[in-house]
Amino acid sequence: MSKLLIVGTVAFDAIETPFGKTTKILGGAATYIGLSAATFGIKSGIVSIIGGDFPQEYLTLLNDRNIDTLGIEIVKNGKTFFWSGKYHNDMNSRDTLITDLNVLEHFNPIVPETFKDSKIVMLGNLHPSVQMRVINQMTERPKLIVLDTMDFWMNIALTELKEVIKKIDVITINDEEARQLSGEYSLVNAAKKIHKMGPKYVVIKKGEHGALLFGEDNMFYAPALPLAEVFDPTGAGDTFAGGFTGYLAKTNNISFENMKNAVIYGSNLASFCVEKFGTERMIDLTQIEIKNRLQQFKQLTQFDIELH
Ligand code: AMP
Repeated sequence: MSKLLIVGTVAFDAIETPFGKTTKILGGAATYIGLSAATFGIKSGIVSIIGGDFPQEYLTLLNDRNIDTLGIEIVKNGKTFFWSGKYHNDMNSRDTLITDLNVLEHFNPIVPETFKDSKIVMLGNLHPSVQMRVINQMTERPKLIVLDTMDFWMNIALTELKEVIKKIDVITINDEEARQLSGEYSLVNAAKKIHKMGPKYVVIKKGEHGALLFGEDNMFYAPALPLAEVFDPTGAGDTFAGGFTGYLAKTNNISFENMKNAVIYGSNLASFCVEKFGTERMIDLTQIEIKNRLQQFKQLTQFDIELH
């Protein structure tokens, strides 16, 4: 088992979907990643920043799942990052209504001593120069650095993003972002171009259409489990990333073959995340439920064709 270091937002979100609307609830990329990775029983730690308005009960909720929060700086007189989004009827696309960076604007990440030797680092969606500052604090090169990003950072910090992408092993992005980053419409060509920017592995998330894993000479596809009800897709990508890195940290094996399983675990966990608003479903998720759904995943994708 390896230690997992997670960097990303710990936030308040206000979400609107065709099924309803929330006021400020617990959110943030690092929160979803942490909750998802915690299902593997591993030790993880979050590096982030919050304001004095962030309830202690949310930190306790993370600590109860063996997620170390010492790396979460608390700015007593500051306000926590706030994001608000509204989903369209098809639930595949959303509009960002508000992004209040608040304390995130002057964030200087400090990796706690006990996490500077983490073997796996998950750089969640944040300003790329913050992601870079985290890499630079590691005392030895982690076995695997995974980075997630979004169009927001491509639009305002592309140069810094390209610099940090050179230093990582795996990038996880969604299909539209892969197209934006590479300038290629075909996802196969997009992955090829992104490989050339640095990462050996490219994971392209396609929402309800699953995820693609590209190695340098090989690729793998995992569908998303077709669900009757998708309530709120917020955090699905981060939950996927948490499942992906959590599984790799647990198994301590970063081969392409094992990454295929990691993609399946990530997709499996993401399928739960979307069933309720915010982090609600991830909080009450049980090991039995995870296992049963994994079985469904297996049945969905397994076939036996004789090749002559
Ligand atoms: P996802 O649905 O996987 O894209 O993740 C949604 C989470 O990302 C929400 O909980 C937000 O708090 C967080 N988020 C939204 N915009 C940003 C941003 N620009 N930088 C970092 N985190 C963000």
